[in-house]
Amino acid sequence: MSVFEHPEFEGHEHVAFHQDEATGLKAIIAVHNTNLGPALGGCRMWTYQDSAEALNDVLRLSRGMTYKSAMADLKLGGGKSVIIGDPRKHKTPEMMQAMGRFVDSLGGRYITAEDSGIAVADIKEMSKHTAYVGGVEAKYRYDGGEADGNPAPSTAYGVFVGLKAAVQHKLGSDLKGVKVAIQGLGHVGYRLAEHLHREGAILYVTDIFPDNLARAKEELGAIVVEPADIFGLDVDVFAPCALGAAINESSLVQLKARVIAGAANNQLANESIGKAVREKGLLYAPDYVINAGGVIDIYHQRMLSTPTALRAHIEKIGETLSEIFVRADEEGRPTNVVANLMAEERFKGTSVNG
Ligand code: NAD
Repeated sequence: MSVFEHPEFEGHEHVAFHQDEATGLKAIIAVHNTNLGPALGGCRMWTYQDSAEALNDVLRLSRGMTYKSAMADLKLGGGKSVIIGDPRKHKTPEMMQAMGRFVDSLGGRYITAEDSGIAVADIKEMSKHTAYVGGVEAKYRYDGGEADGNPAPSTAYGVFVGLKAAVQHKLGSDLKGVKVAIQGLGHVGYRLAEHLHREGAILYVTDIFPDNLARAKEELGAIVVEPADIFGLDVDVFAPCALGAAINESSLVQLKARVIAGAANNQLANESIGKAVREKGLLYAPDYVINAGGVIDIYHQRMLSTPTALRAHIEKIGETLSEIFVRADEEGRPTNVVANLMAEERFKGTSVNG
């Protein structure tokens, strides 16, 4: 397994491997870039087949965090960590504490948080041995409500603000009467639906589980459709809020919407599909820009900020997206390409480390 020659290694500052025999911990921390500040990124525990697969994942994810934090105007860099193992079978409090010691050994260059397979309780175990954790205790919500530690309300509010900016740019209107198709009514999707309903949007929703669908129909007047039918609807906006790769060759052919704006990570099946999206006349709100409300929330909770400052920061997502849309029009480039360029302009060549 090569590291420096690894196709995903490029640009990384630091990759650390750690094994703790007493607890069975096998983990990797990747710090992609700390020019703008310490690298924040979640810890993922997954049944990786081998360390090569784990390395590939951690390198890819840590780079993504650098771009996300830069575009969210956070004084943070990008990093990520992975633990090799089955979270349901192998995870113990002692293992999480060992992970905390590993995180601490980087002296604050890397700050960890939740990701797949790692819950708030696990981060609390890690925090017994390191102060470099986020997402442990949320003290407030962006709207002044009581926080339950879940960043989804902030993510959903950011997606709502971003979707509004995209509709304004592409359709020149507010949300009243605008038809939005939401794929996935989970933690973020349902809250997004509530915001949109309050602004007068007409909702079409789908999910593979019926739980939230009946509620959306009753409370928000949403029209429920089958999962396979969500792409081809005659709507203005498509909001992917389920899994990745919702925008692929087959879905793009079906899409009638003029705007793509949703919460899901890695919405484009590949980077080059951004060009096809643009050529079809669709406006795509780059995923890592529009869904940054959660990481903005974690940052403010760590800084002991205020709900007002948090809310204002999330609302900047709309301004950042508008900047991307204008530049994409001026330069004739896909929005995903412009977002990457803007992020690189922000984090490359600037350093808080002197
Ligand atoms: P969630 O698991 O609560 O919701 C996802 C929903 O999508 C579920 O209800 C699931 O049943 C549904 N779904 C899955 N496959 C589907 C399909 N093929 N068709 C229709 N529905 C389907 O997750 P979430 O926290 O709401 O996050 C949604 C997306 O946003 C994910 O991609 C996540 O990575 C991303 N995201 C979430 C946050 C956050 O703060 N929660 C932050 C950034 C990005």
